[in-house]
Amino acid sequence: MTESIEILIIPGDGIGSEIVAVAEQVVKRVAAREGIELSLEHALLGGIAIDTCGTPLPVETLEKARNARALLLGAVGGPKWDDLPTLERPERGLLGLRSELELFANLRPAILFEPLAAASSLKAELVADLDILIVRELTGGIYFGEPRGITVVDNERVGVNSYVYKEHEIDRIARVAFDLARKRGRRLCSVDKANVLEVTQLWREVVTEVGRDYGDVQLSHMYVDNAGMQLVRAPKQFDVLVTGNMFGDILSDVAAMLTGSLGMLPSASLDREGRGLFEPVHGTAPDIAGQDLANPLATILSVAMMFRYSLDAPGAADTIEKAVHAVLDAGYRTADIYVSTVPETRRVGTREMGDLVLDRLEAGP
Ligand code: NAD
Repeated sequence: MTESIEILIIPGDGIGSEIVAVAEQVVKRVAAREGIELSLEHALLGGIAIDTCGTPLPVETLEKARNARALLLGAVGGPKWDDLPTLERPERGLLGLRSELELFANLRPAILFEPLAAASSLKAELVADLDILIVRELTGGIYFGEPRGITVVDNERVGVNSYVYKEHEIDRIARVAFDLARKRGRRLCSVDKANVLEVTQLWREVVTEVGRDYGDVQLSHMYVDNAGMQLVRAPKQFDVLVTGNMFGDILSDVAAMLTGSLGMLPSASLDREGRGLFEPVHGTAPDIAGQDLANPLATILSVAMMFRYSLDAPGAADTIEKAVHAVLDAGYRTADIYVSTVPETRRVGTREMGDLVLDRLEAGP
């Protein structure tokens, strides 16, 4: 008998429970269709974990996470917990999970679904058929560097964060990016600020050294300010981008807007063995939580990434992505991607959008 694969479902806060409930149905349906035996566990993280267990990352959640092959997360945080000290906030739970599991490689695709071209802030011809992948280092850099904090020096407050990368951290993320570029358009652009920051001079050197093992991938380098500009000027020039934690955080949100909506963007965070955390790029959207307004497609597309990268089931991933395409092609839109001037489209809520995707999965390829 084949052993079932453990998946940990973590709804989190805000719209998390709404979008994850829908995505969980997709997980079950696709697994059944493809004959993949999964066992689903559930856990708390973020604000709801603070309220229930007094900590954003309960020990039980971490234990379940260590046993799981893949984690499906909604998002964490919200105004209720905004006044807590930085180290006790919901986001700490997520940062802790990523670093405890050594999920160092964050994959953020920005793909423009053709029927949504009207929702992009750029001209349709600049973004039509856009398909870029941002690979962001996730467990190092300035978000984790020591020393950090706010102290008083000479009678005034001084804020400090440290931008630190060790050679092996750059090497391993570069290899992930080169491997992915190899499976796509064989072009990799490494983004840094090597004209100013020594830490990114090392970044550039190590990426260049790793590149010698990937002669079939064309490597280029770009300063982060230029990369931001190029992403909005001519985004289709890129195939795969690789960069550090902070630059990746910012650039992937820029890329997000090219595609029209945060509600459409999935992400994956992987460790060295392919274990992964899969989550939408967006946050908990407290302004629309509990109103059946959230777009569940980013989470559903994160499920597709889960099947592709952690469960080694690319066929299942394709099936989900095709179902999402079919629903958009048929004109269904949640509020965030609805443009009233586009004919033959209809606004739907979170649950109906989920049901429509499930119907398309049922219908088969
Ligand atoms: P957000 O992504 O939650 O929302 C930004 C805007 O996009 C809002 O207007 C929201 O309604 C909309 N939006 C987001 N997701 C949507 C969806 N699926 N469908 C439709 N509309 C959607 O960002 P924010 O407002 O800056 O943050 C809110 C909370 O989320 C904060 O507490 C923040 O810390 C947290 N957050 C968590 C994560 C995470 O868990 N990975 C990421 C970002 C923000």
